[in-house]
Parts: sequence; C-alpha cells; structure tokens
Amino acid sequence: MICIAIANQKGGVGKTTTAINVGTALAAIGLRVLLLDLDPQGNASTGLGINQSDRGKSTYDLLVRETSVRDAAVATKIPRLDIVPATVDLSGAEIELVEFDARTHRLDRAMARDADNWDVVLIDCPPSLGLLTMNAMVASHALLVPLQCEFFALEGLSQLLNTVERIRSRFNPGLSIIGVVLTMFDRRNRLTDQVSADVRAVLGKVVFETVIPRNVRLSEAPSHGVPALIYDHRCPGSEAYIALARELIGRMPESAEAA
Ligand code: ADP
Ligand code: MG
Repeated sequence: MICIAIANQKGGVGKTTTAINVGTALAAIGLRVLLLDLDPQGNASTGLGINQSDRGKSTYDLLVRETSVRDAAVATKIPRLDIVPATVDLSGAEIELVEFDARTHRLDRAMARDADNWDVVLIDCPPSLGLLTMNAMVASHALLVPLQCEFFALEGLSQLLNTVERIRSRFNPGLSIIGVVLTMFDRRNRLTDQVSADVRAVLGKVVFETVIPRNVRLSEAPSHGVPALIYDHRCPGSEAYIALARELIGRMPESAEAA
C-alpha cells in the first residue's frame, strides 16, 4: 500500500479535484483505492456522491475515536474506489486533537491498524498546515502538491516545504514529494505559460509533465456527485487526469502497483 497526501495550504488550487479524479483513474486500471476526506468542508465526499445522510463513520472517527479504517470506509459508485467521508465534526478536531499525546500520529495509527486492504490511499487535505494536514503528512509515504497556474503560484510553497522538512526530521523521515502538478492551466493566457516555465525552472523534475487545463467540465462534475472522469471521460480535464495518473504510477514504488 502507498499512501499519498494531496496537500497545499492554499485553498482552491485543485486538491479535491485531483484527489477525486486521480483516485478514479487509478481505480479504473484495477487498483483498490481509498480516499480519505480530511477537509471539514467535505467536498471530496460530496463530489463522489456521498450525501450527508450516508456519512456514518468519518475521518473524525479515525482521528478522535480510534475507529478502524475498514469500519469507516464506504463504497462509492466507482468500482474499487472507497472513501472515508468527512463530517462537520472534523472542523473541531484540530482543537480536540491537542489533548492527545501523540496528536500528530492519530491518522498514522488508524492506518497502521487496517489500511492494507487498499493499494493506494489518497488523502485530500484541508487548506491549512494545521494538525489535520500534519496527521496526513505523518501517515503518508509521499505528497502530491497541486499548484495553480497563477502569478503567485510559488508563493507559500516554501512554507509548505518547511512543514515537510519538520515532519521529516521529527516524525516521518521517509516522506517524499512524489510530484507537483500544475492545475487550471489556460492556453489562451500567456501568463500561465510563463508561470509554468518559471515553476519548472525553480522546481525541476519534481513537476509532472502533465498539466491540468482549466476545464469547465471539471468544475461541473461535483454538483452531479460524480468524478469528471465519469461525467465526461473525453473532456480535456479528464484526459489530463488520466495522463497524470499514468505518470504518478510511474513514480510509485513497485509494491503499490500490483492489483
Ligand atoms: P481545493 O481542494 O484545493 O480547494 P478544488 O479542487 O476544490 O480545490 O478546486 C477549487 C474550485 O475550482 C472548485 O470549484 C473546482 O471545481 C474548480 N476546479 C478545480 N480544478 C479545475 C480545473 N482544472 N478547471 C476548472 N475548474 C477547476
Ligand atoms: Mg478541497
């Protein structure tokens, strides 16, 4: 099993869209995928059609109540794609977690109990570097970082990398960055070309070759409770996410690939 946290403390950069569509693409090629919705907003849960009333156990229960991952996971409409949804309780979890001794290790421990049922676990992180994201980083083998193609794309990245460094030195030395993906790329806007070139010049090969275009189908799909890959599998956004999933698999250790 490989666990990948999708993280960036900026909101609206495409974390949830990436989690849903990469998860769907990986499930489509035969991997057993679990998505952990670690954002109190619950957008990944909603986007995968898990209504509030269907959210029994949640990531809050994993973190605070020591519920097992198997008990909390529910199937989505996508074969082989399961999710532990988020509920509003999660917004209080940052404060409740402070009470625990190993407060950064709660998710890691939950996963160690029984997450080996899945080949890939993707964690959709909230837009902050607080305890929820730290729990995700401690529990993960790697981070996938979406960066929005905008003028300030790299702003805030050093803060993210500092947090990664802190997690590595104190808790999880093996934490790697499996890749940075540029999102919301707009071909008609010359600024985004420049941003993409700048980001590649600064970050180098860690940036995926695949770029996710700005595509209205990607933003429409969640309101239908299905991934864009199901809503319209031939739209440019879906095609880009399939390419990204392929690139991602090429960067995974072989143990995670067997389905
Ligand atoms: P985050 O999880 O980082 O906050 P989201 O994935 O929720 O970001 O994306 C923010 C908003 O932008 C959402 O409304 C989403 O549907 C939309 N969106 C994300 N990626 C794209 C894209 N490539 N093209 C168009 N809209 C997008
Ligand atoms: Mg999100």
